[in-house]
This record gives sequence, C-alpha cells and structure tokens, in this order.
Amino acid sequence: MQQTEKIELLGLLPHELTDALQPLGVPKFRAAQLFRWMHRQKVADFDQMTDLSKQFRADLQQQFYINRPNIAQRLASAIDDTVKYLCRLSDGNCVEAVRMVYRHGVTACISTQVGCRMGCKFCASAPLGLVRNLTAAEMLGQIDLMDAEFPADQAVTSIVLMGIGEPLDNYDQVLRFLRLLSCKEGRAMSLRHVTLSTCGLVPMIDRLAEENLPLTLSVSLHAPDNASRSALMPVNRKYPLEELLAACGRYFRKTGRRLSFEYALIRGENDSRRDAQRLADCLKPVFPGMRPHVNLIPVNPVGENGFQAGSAKQFMQYLSEVGVNATLRRTLGDDIKAACGQLRRNAMEDDSHESRE
Ligand code: SAH
Repeated sequence: MQQTEKIELLGLLPHELTDALQPLGVPKFRAAQLFRWMHRQKVADFDQMTDLSKQFRADLQQQFYINRPNIAQRLASAIDDTVKYLCRLSDGNCVEAVRMVYRHGVTACISTQVGCRMGCKFCASAPLGLVRNLTAAEMLGQIDLMDAEFPADQAVTSIVLMGIGEPLDNYDQVLRFLRLLSCKEGRAMSLRHVTLSTCGLVPMIDRLAEENLPLTLSVSLHAPDNASRSALMPVNRKYPLEELLAACGRYFRKTGRRLSFEYALIRGENDSRRDAQRLADCLKPVFPGMRPHVNLIPVNPVGENGFQAGSAKQFMQYLSEVGVNATLRRTLGDDIKAACGQLRRNAMEDDSHESRE
C-alpha cells in the first residue's frame, strides 16, 4: 500500500484517533495508549510501542503512519546553547526550527508554513513565496525532534510561532497544533507558554479572539505609519494600521490578554525620535491607561536588501521619553545566524547550484 493512502496519526485529536482505529476493532483504551506513545513518549515507530499486541502493531503499520520531520542539518552555537535545525519533511521540503535555552526554560521557535506569501521586504522567506502549509503533526514534530536529542529534564517548556510562515495564514492546522499541544492526554502544555506572532491578518485576529485561548499574541508592527509600513509589509495595504490596531484592542478586550508588538529596527527607515513618538501615539489607545510594550529586534540583514540594524539603545531611550516600555530581544545563537529563514534559503541556493552543475 502506498504511504499516501495511509492515515496520518500524530495530527489526530484523541477522539479522532479513537474513530480512526474503529475499523481495527480494538478496544477504546488502545487509542489512549497509542496517543500517549506518540505525544508523551514521542515514539515514531509502532514497533517501539511494546505494550501493544503484535497484531495491532502490524495493522497499524499497514494502514497508518506517523509523520514527523527529521533533521537535515543541525547548527549548534559555540557561544550559547542555541541549536538551529533544518527539518526535512516527508515530501523533501525543509523548514527551520530553533531551540533556545533561557534561565527559566527551553524555548522552541518553530515554522508553520513552507515559505510565506506575505512578502515582507526584510524577511529571508519572502522572496521564495509560499510552497505549502505545514500540518499540525509537522509542527509538533519540530518540537519532538529537539526533545529527542536532550534528557527529559531539558525538554521544551515554551513555544514561539516565529519561524518560517504566517501562522494565521494556516489557521486550521495551527489551531489543531495548539489543541494537541495542550491536550491533557498528551504534552499537556499550558498555552500561556505559547506565543503566536502575526504580521496582522485582521479577520484572523478577530477569529482567534473568539477561541479564547490563553496564548500571547504578538503583532509584527515594524513601522508607525501606513506609508512606511506598507513599504515594508505589503499586508498593510490590505489591513492598514488603524484597522490592525482596532483589532488588537478588540482582542485585548475579549481575551483580557495584553498583546506584544515586534519592531525590527532598520537604520534610517523606522528608528528616528519622530518614529518613536508616532509609535507611542499608535499604541497608547490600544490599552487605555497602560504603558504599551514593544519588543525591539535589530533587523538582520538578508541577501541584498541593504537594510542595516538601527541602534536599539538609542530607540529605547526615545521610547522611554514617550512612555513606551521596550525590551531588546536577546540575540541568541549570533554565530549560527539563528535569524529564521536563512538556513532554508541557503540550503535551497545550494540545491539549485547542484542542479545546475
Ligand atoms: N509571520 C509571522 C512570524 C514571522 S517571523 C509574523 O510576521 O509575525 C517572526 C518575527 O521576525 C516577525 O516579527 C518578523 O517580522 C521578524 N523578522 C523577519 N525577518 C526579519 C529580519 N530579517 N530581521 C529582523 N526581524 C525579522
């Protein structure tokens, strides 16, 4: 039987797994056992599920499969514990994931799409466009492959959806991933430890607000006015700043959770005192009476785009003068170019060189 005709199991919620196993005629608790093997022990091979009968394992082998990516390339930082993975998916496509060690735990930065169609001018993934959405199993699999390399007490404790792709452009699979992640029969991770980063797809922000999940929503702002934001991020032409900020306000009122804002500092583009003032004017109405919070990221130059990082220290000073809190994103794994998208980009360039030779 061809693999494509088999049913993938890692992406199924517990009740769906029970339904999928129905034709095999096994008792219901077998589905629960299988779920635990996949999501707690993170076993990829049915033969390692030693408390399942031989017959059951043979049936599973024949009709089902578990679709986890494997490691195509691993880059470990020599200056901190950051490890960057190029993950190969079953169809040969690759995405990136990064494991970062902080004092309070281990964070996985994972991808949600192969490529992206949002076209942000500073981003390494934009020029290559969108190839396809990742499945929930492929998102979980990125975390599993990291955990498989470390002892259990160094397992991933928080997750940021800040790798390749726009999570809200792959809404259904991302939601499925979040449900699987927080499922009490599986990893049972609290969604308080998850941050979803978006370039600002307004209708999807409203839809996410309705789900009432305790995750942190982070909005990639990067510019404080429509003209400069549209020049950097084409999505702004469809959902301009005033609509985006209104949606952020609705999200906050509906969920009670404060959003964070990302701001990639680009020298001469968005780093002046006037930009800081306009940023404050944008953000203050979103959370009346509270100091807004911005995460500053010195822009990572990509390819030939000519962008250079602005001075974070200077911009932070400007922001504090206008009443906005800011943190500078700690740059981990500087030596391995942990900036997302660049590893896949390089791998694809290598491939195209090879095929030309
Ligand atoms: N699509 C989501 C997740 C993308 S990556 C989003 O737009 O939020 C996570 C963050 O990295 C985003 O804020 C993104 O704008 C930023 N980013 C992308 N390329 C960058 C670069 N070259 N330098 C600095 N930040 C970058």
